[in-house]
Amino acid sequence: MFKLSPNFFILAFLLFCASFVSAQQQTTSVFDDSEWTKPTQPFRIAGNLYYIGTYDLACYLITTTEGNILINTGLGESVPMILANIEALGFKFTDIKVLLTTQGHFDHVAGMAEIPKLTNAKMMVHEGDAQVLSDGGNSDFIFGGNSGSTFNPITVDRTLKDGDTIKLGETKLIALHHPGHTKGATSFMVDVADENRSWKVLIVNIPSILSQTRISGMPSYPQVGKDYAYTLASLKKLQFDLWVASHASQFGLHDKRKPGDPYKPEVFVDRPGFEASINTIKREYDKRLRKRSEISLCANYKPWIVF
Ligand SMILES: [Zn+2]
Repeated sequence: MFKLSPNFFILAFLLFCASFVSAQQQTTSVFDDSEWTKPTQPFRIAGNLYYIGTYDLACYLITTTEGNILINTGLGESVPMILANIEALGFKFTDIKVLLTTQGHFDHVAGMAEIPKLTNAKMMVHEGDAQVLSDGGNSDFIFGGNSGSTFNPITVDRTLKDGDTIKLGETKLIALHHPGHTKGATSFMVDVADENRSWKVLIVNIPSILSQTRISGMPSYPQVGKDYAYTLASLKKLQFDLWVASHASQFGLHDKRKPGDPYKPEVFVDRPGFEASINTIKREYDKRLRKRSEISLCANYKPWIVF
């Protein structure tokens, strides 16, 4: 039974404001996709880990005895939806204490600046994405610069390095730096437990390669190709029981689970799906590397030398 808590009125106000926010964030609408804003049923993935995102923009809640951890927010206009999803599962969004993200792109962090206004939550992000968060995406090596900010600037309370742990209550997450897609892209490894067993869960940032990315290096990200190679190799070595990702489509959420399905963590085991996903990106990476060598071969080709 849904009671009209004070949070309800805050949510109603947020819904009212959302139309103004989306009107202001015109830069995001260029990339918008209806699956990004469509609702989907929130549910328990495994133990104290829950899916509370939109249809495709994956957001996660990890509940602990000391408060909760929120990973990703989706778009600015998604915030009322994800907060309502938290409440629908029986939790209070005012209990969010830690904010994390898998990558500093607007489709995962655009709502983040709103959360500390409603809670006492602290933002923790890999140092590689700290600047991008602070300037609302203006320094992003692809989306920044001429197009300006793509989301409201976020105050960063703690910067993370590869292997750092984030502890809250009995839960401990390990931050895994997986750069390339953004400079500070991060996956998280966390052990969660239910009544029957514990599960090692990988919340992965699949390192998709944007069409604008030049593997040979970009002016504001010279080592991007090297970073992708590192991330692809690191992902292959990871051991886990279950995996989920930054986008629902990346881990086949809607094929694995239908709204109303009972609690069943096993559907997210799927190591072959994980391998296939990484292999697809690796093929794209290799294709772009070949293109790069073809270009440099052409550059060295001297048609006036005849043997
Ligand atoms: Zn992205």
